[in-house]
Amino acid sequence: MVQRNDLNMDHLTHYYLNAMGIQAWRLNTPLNPSVPAMTDEWHALQMTVANCTACDLCQTRTQTVFGVGHPQAKLMLIGEAPGFYEDQQGKPFVGRAGQLLNAMLESIGLTRDAVYIANILKCRPPNNRDPLPDEVAHCTPFLMKQIALIKPALLLALGRIAGHFLLETHAALGTLRGKVHAFGEEKIPLIVTYHPAYLLRNPADKSKAWQDLQAVHHHLSISNTPSRLSPIKKHNS
Ligand code: SF4
Repeated sequence: MVQRNDLNMDHLTHYYLNAMGIQAWRLNTPLNPSVPAMTDEWHALQMTVANCTACDLCQTRTQTVFGVGHPQAKLMLIGEAPGFYEDQQGKPFVGRAGQLLNAMLESIGLTRDAVYIANILKCRPPNNRDPLPDEVAHCTPFLMKQIALIKPALLLALGRIAGHFLLETHAALGTLRGKVHAFGEEKIPLIVTYHPAYLLRNPADKSKAWQDLQAVHHHLSISNTPSRLSPIKKHNS
């Protein structure tokens, strides 16, 4: 059961929620636990990424964008690649798209601290072009390791690039929405929705994104598994 959240939303959040034509909801059981310290394994992975030169994007990046959030999050969001502001700040989903993502999370009672957010690529492609196949091949083992460490109860793919990689398909995003997929050998539930940057350009689709968020909220509400799945061995991309 959920109840309306009428507390502690700033003006910007209200602006984006109103723009999406949605109201905010909060789970009776909060999913915003305190964030535990990262383990040595996390730190080692982060250092490996920070020093990575496996593809040409290392030559044009300002810095790597590893990921942020709760290391035992029930919900893990996966986007495409860092953009200009992400490359500058070293964090995923900042700028206007990040503000919209924050509002989307808040609409289902979550904060960035309660989830984990990462991208397919850890370095910005020049001019925000689509990731190249060899870049994806070199970089996604890092993402697979992050998923294996977090063991999320639910994955949310943000946009076409993330959906295509995680589901090993080239199907239209519209056909990937509206269902719960299974990811990898562990069959982690996975929902696909629009990338916030796309929603900023195509506000008419925000209502569809809201439907996807309701599905996320529902799945988390009925999931009592505190993110304790077996390690993921390998994803065949
Ligand atoms: S995009 Fe990934 S594989 Fe390429 S240099 Fe950056 S961290 Fe390494």
